Amino acid sequence: MKIAIAGGGIGGLTTALALTQAGIAVTVYERSSQLVDLGAGITLAPNATRVLYHLGLGPALEQTAVTPPVSEYRHYRTGAVIMRMVPKDYRQLFGVPYLRMHRWDLQEAMINHLAEIAPGALKLNARVEQLESRGSEVKITFGDGRVETADIVIAADGIRSALREKLFSPAPPVFSGYVAWRGLVDTATLPPQLRESAVAFGQGRHINRYLVRRGELLNFVAVAQRTQWAEEGWAIPAPRDEFLDEFSSFDEGTRTILSRAAQGQVFKWGLFGRPWLEQWHSGRVVLLGDAAHPMLPFLGQGGANAIEDAMILARCLASQATPQQAFALYQASRGPRTRKATDEAAKRGERYLGEPTADSLKGDNPEGQYAYDAVAGPLGV
Ligand SMILES: Cc1cc2nc3c(=O)[nH]c(=O)nc-3n(C[C@H](O)[C@H](O)[C@H](O)COP(=O)(O)OP(=O)(O)OC[C@H]3O[C@@H](n4cnc5c(N)ncnc54)[C@H](O)[C@@H]3O)c2cc1C
Repeated sequence: MKIAIAGGGIGGLTTALALTQAGIAVTVYERSSQLVDLGAGITLAPNATRVLYHLGLGPALEQTAVTPPVSEYRHYRTGAVIMRMVPKDYRQLFGVPYLRMHRWDLQEAMINHLAEIAPGALKLNARVEQLESRGSEVKITFGDGRVETADIVIAADGIRSALREKLFSPAPPVFSGYVAWRGLVDTATLPPQLRESAVAFGQGRHINRYLVRRGELLNFVAVAQRTQWAEEGWAIPAPRDEFLDEFSSFDEGTRTILSRAAQGQVFKWGLFGRPWLEQWHSGRVVLLGDAAHPMLPFLGQGGANAIEDAMILARCLASQATPQQAFALYQASRGPRTRKATDEAAKRGERYLGEPTADSLKGDNPEGQYAYDAVAGPLGV
């Protein structure tokens, strides 16, 4: 079986690793001419690390990942701690850790591992323009006019998925009303009390910050509301005055962190969603990750769900007699869980917007989310 993946992001690369491990030949087509460091962090909850460790990435991730000893919810204006959370020992509970990482460190670990187990499988500068299911194969047309065929195509082309719009639903992404700024601060430039994980809330804004890359960098994502957003892309440079002004009512510590971000290295982007899609497969093409079910970032589970999709889809393809059976089992396995996460992420965002109190922030039960086992759990439920 010859499988092509459109998109070399978190979902596409995990799928390539999982299929290769299952003995299925795969090619990943990524539109970018080189994969670049976009300067951001990512949280990998145990439901994601369970898959990544199973795929052999554990040692590479542990070279740079950080496991926070504690995390705090803080009042935006005073900086006072509203709630202090000491994470459980997830290695003991689930056998895998909760990690925070620089995104590039994650992506690099995936690319290097794929190059070892499937040399040449990742093709850059390959924008998939058109897919056409023709009986038992799919014709793939690239942006430069080249043509290839595959038995199955997995479209993992992200939230702005053009393939989803062409093959499944023309409905465009919808602006969520949130705008985010992200940046990295050299931890050495910060006083010790600011080198920790915290989320500060209030006045319709919140800022999540945490350490990455062996604690050498502090990642922040600052979110505010807007009525409209017209700019495209997720790497629009943000002028320093603009985001300092936006968060000027936050406590001095938070403002210090924002002001220490390297000049020109803070980026902004609008957060988008899409109407829920009931069916993610058509003919021999199937959607995965944000292309299938984009979710707001407030649960820290979008990438984790793309990683789970990858593992489950690889298991379905390896165990089922036909692509149609595999896709149906994948859909049944992933639809309900990703829908729930999408709804919860939206609700979490709303909770973050009010005046922060211990009561308004209660109610998180992450262990339920983290227990999900995409590696060995039952399929179809
Ligand atoms: C602010 C923010 C914070 C987040 N934090 C977390 C977090 O802490 N934890 C977490 O789990 N998730 C988090 N997420 C969500 C996570 O980043 C996404 O869910 C995840 O990146 C989705 O992976 P993907 O592979 O589906 O899409 P992407 O990572 O977007 O990858 C899509 C890839 O497809 C390529 N591509 C696009 N079109 C084509 C084409 N036509 N042909 C070929 N290639 C194409 C793109 O260049 C890209 O490389 C966060 C998201 C945001 C916005």
